[in-house]
Amino acid sequence: MPPSVAWFRRDLRLSDNPALLAAAADGPVLPLFVLDPALWRPAGPARRCYLTASLRSLDAAVGGLTLLEGDPVRRVVEAARAVGAERVHVAADFGPHGARRDAAVERALGEAGIALVRTGSPYAVAPGRLRTGGGTAYQVFTPYHRAWADHGWRAPAGDPADVEWLRPDRSAALPDVEPPAGMTLPEAGEEAAHARWQEFLDRVADYDDERDRPDLDTTSRMSVHLKWGEIHPRTMLADLAPLRSAGAAAYRRELAWRDFFADVLHARPETARAYLRPAFAGMRYDEPGAAYDAWRAGRTGFPVVDAGMRQLRATGWMHNRVRMVVASFLVKDLHVEWQHGARHFLHWLVDGDLASNQQNWQWAAGSGAEAAPYFRVFNPTSQGRKFDPDGTYVRRWVPELAEVTDPHDPSPDDRERSGYPAPVVDHAAERREALARWEEIR
Ligand SMILES: Cc1cc2nc3c(=O)[nH]c(=O)nc-3n(C[C@H](O)[C@H](O)[C@H](O)COP(=O)(O)OP(=O)(O)OC[C@H]3O[C@@H](n4cnc5c(N)ncnc54)[C@H](O)[C@@H]3O)c2cc1C
Repeated sequence: MPPSVAWFRRDLRLSDNPALLAAAADGPVLPLFVLDPALWRPAGPARRCYLTASLRSLDAAVGGLTLLEGDPVRRVVEAARAVGAERVHVAADFGPHGARRDAAVERALGEAGIALVRTGSPYAVAPGRLRTGGGTAYQVFTPYHRAWADHGWRAPAGDPADVEWLRPDRSAALPDVEPPAGMTLPEAGEEAAHARWQEFLDRVADYDDERDRPDLDTTSRMSVHLKWGEIHPRTMLADLAPLRSAGAAAYRRELAWRDFFADVLHARPETARAYLRPAFAGMRYDEPGAAYDAWRAGRTGFPVVDAGMRQLRATGWMHNRVRMVVASFLVKDLHVEWQHGARHFLHWLVDGDLASNQQNWQWAAGSGAEAAPYFRVFNPTSQGRKFDPDGTYVRRWVPELAEVTDPHDPSPDDRERSGYPAPVVDHAAERREALARWEEIR
């Protein structure tokens, strides 16, 4: 049987990996990863560090991963030719860059008489699969979610048995990437992903009640494992299927949001940068200046905003409720365009994902699919009080407020004593300003 290539990209796992099973059905398998400078450069220090750790884990699992560096169009063809492969197996990539790259690789392989075979995707329901009655992509989550649940997904594909792995003939060394100073990252790899998932399953019943509480910190933290495909959402959905709790239903719905945003980006790839609702491009925005720098540094003087921005820098992750608050604050209190915030997030997030990040930012900016109504402007102080009632989250990430009486609204004296800054803006005034600017484009 001719050998084939399993080209791993964001599916760094062996189990429930249909593309790998397809490769193994061909014959001996060369496990390949290509470090593509076009993706490595903008990945940011947290994702680079995590990716190398995850690749190390995959390398150990296959007993030697072939790692090549450079343009996949050349490297994949070289690797396939070197082992005499007739087919290169991948999971389909629906992102704007990945889809273009794969089309180019497919052409180059074709010229060498080698086929690129796409099996499966990183989603439960692949982008482009679901369409409205009018034949268009969904723009609203609720009907998408209904169609998603009705459509369903395949059972997990199982583990590959007795794969004959081809050892690398030549391979680049995995770069040693230290986490950014002061940052602690989660454990990477398929085993770590499954361990975390099993640990979370024991408490998924409480998810619905607790998921908005950054102080309780009880969400699954699966986003980074999903981002790198260390586990497939289908595996998770199969584990959730027998559970009847409201928590399990709420969790399933969150996985549908992930698929939904990938579907939106697939239908409108330009919205990775451009406004999904073009009218918002005509709104008046401010150039990012000193207040934007304070936002990035976690020194806006709004405790829950600063706690979130500091959590991001310390862990590469931020609680979802706080992501919503800091995003709203940037766009509606500081009047800075969402793309600036999205870029900062993608630089630091270890789970940074183009579809989820850009579409959630558009949601917060009022310009996205099923966006929050623009006139609903989060008040950062009351959001803090509501979702972090004892101030535990703020005290943890803004330690200078640990001892103050009201960490969500420290007095001027407390700010002075603790070295915590005064608010960079007056929220009530900026809320009025945001609404006035919105009126201009309505
Ligand atoms: C401004 C902003 C930017 C974001 N950027 C990203 C990003 O780059 N990458 C990313 O994975 N998520 C992003 N999210 C979505 C969400 O915040 C994270 O998925 C979540 O906080 C990850 O933590 P968790 O795994 O503990 O979540 P859980 O609450 O345990 O959720 C389970 C899973 O459901 C999915 N999910 C949950 N909420 C969302 C959502 N709103 N959109 C899409 N999928 C969701 C994720 O895969 C998540 O791992 C962003 C949200 C906002 C508001």
